[in-house]
Amino acid sequence: MYCKNCGEQMNDNQAICLKCGVKTGQGNAFCSNCGQPVAPEAEVCLSCGVAIKKAGNYGNYDKIVIALVCFFLGGLGIHNFMLGETKKGIVRLVLTVLCMGIGGIIALVDFIKILMDKYEVNPDKAF
Ligand SMILES: [Zn+2]
Ligand SMILES: [Zn+2]
Repeated sequence: MYCKNCGEQMNDNQAICLKCGVKTGQGNAFCSNCGQPVAPEAEVCLSCGVAIKKAGNYGNYDKIVIALVCFFLGGLGIHNFMLGETKKGIVRLVLTVLCMGIGGIIALVDFIKILMDKYEVNPDKAF
């Protein structure tokens, strides 16, 4: 793992970069997977092909679309499926069906994060 702010190599369990003092996952100047510089708006690292995680980035969908889907169908994990978070979506679906809507409560948290641009998309690598 590399610091996304300065590109320094880091331990996987390090919470803060010892070189620049920025929290792990903060910054958008370097790829956390290979440590190569990336463009601030890049969605994929051109050096290693890994998707660059960025809160508030929903790929092909508008924020408002994801927010609405999350609000009405979030308990079924539909917004997770749309964003490629298949495993997360299945967990939501099972939780909602088995536990009388617990997934819906989690989805409400997602909804608030989406509105505040704090939601970070973590698509499954290969499913
Ligand atoms: Zn750093
Ligand atoms: Zn990379």
